[in-house]
Amino acid sequence: MTVLVTGGAGYIGSHMVHALLDAGERVVVLDDLSTGFDWALPQGASFVVGDAGDQTRVARLIAEHRIEAIVHFAASVVVPDSVRDPLGYYRNNTVNSRALIEAAVKGGVRHFIFSSTAAVYGNPERVPVCEGDATVPTSPYGSSKLMTETMLRDATVAHGLRHVILRYFNVAGADPLGRAGQSTKGATHLIKVAVEAALGLRPKVEVFGTDYPTPDGTCVRDYIHVCDLVRAHSDALAYLRTGGDPVTLNCGYGRGFSVLEVIDTVKRASGADFKVELVGRRLGDPAWVVAASDRARAVLKWQPHFDDLESIVCHALAWERKLLTHAS
Ligand code: UDP
Repeated sequence: MTVLVTGGAGYIGSHMVHALLDAGERVVVLDDLSTGFDWALPQGASFVVGDAGDQTRVARLIAEHRIEAIVHFAASVVVPDSVRDPLGYYRNNTVNSRALIEAAVKGGVRHFIFSSTAAVYGNPERVPVCEGDATVPTSPYGSSKLMTETMLRDATVAHGLRHVILRYFNVAGADPLGRAGQSTKGATHLIKVAVEAALGLRPKVEVFGTDYPTPDGTCVRDYIHVCDLVRAHSDALAYLRTGGDPVTLNCGYGRGFSVLEVIDTVKRASGADFKVELVGRRLGDPAWVVAASDRARAVLKWQPHFDDLESIVCHALAWERKLLTHAS
């Protein structure tokens, strides 16, 4: 029995592949390398370059490797890009996921774990936001993921594909052993941007908006360490294997940090006093997004190990330094 990881050469996917191999699982990675890197993959995984929506290829992989479970990461993930190119996002995230789910059903795959996002909530009606709260995405990215959630639930009712949907909050950090990290060029996510500024790779960090209804006026987010997020996937796999019912779960810690708090933490952890510029709001940013995480803790027995912004930032810094050493 083998686990198929789509998008396994990407940031979160590569951490998942390490965790699965560490646990003694057999792993096949399907990744089109549009944003991932083949060097990010550990030795023990079989690797196929290709599209998660290529049903012929996926059907062959399922049959050849007797795929028992699919962990589906492959997606486009930049919110502003999705506003510029909605149809590209619906193709890559929704249409390809539909094809993958159909191939999974036809191939008799038992378990499916899907990477969804807090973006499905849009501007949450309350914080912490619960899984049952209204889903009103404010970007094509969020909509593309919400549509896939719907398809998965319907496919489960009709065809018995058992699934767990995980809604990620703000993922950051890197493998504490230094084996994987966020390597995307031109990153837009706050911790990556601030860490790059701390190492002199950017001249400054811009703070998008200081007039939000939050304690210091900047947006608040629930930053989750990538290894704790991956742990939730491993727990989800164990849950499904022991007969767990389909479920949708938030993946965050249930507490938030403001943009200024994040920047302070990066400055403290790095010892670098980089330039910070206060600018206007970025379009579409909700003020406050924090997960209610009790359901994941209760259902999956999920126990995070790195619920600490300092550790998240230190691991991100260590990875960035490693990238720098390899580049030079
Ligand atoms: N942010 C910022 N400067 C940056 C990048 C992000 O002020 O260079 C803010 C952004 O406006 C948001 C928060 O940091 O309020 C988290 O943004 P990010 O892009 O990391 O994740 P998102 O919550 O949008 O998925």
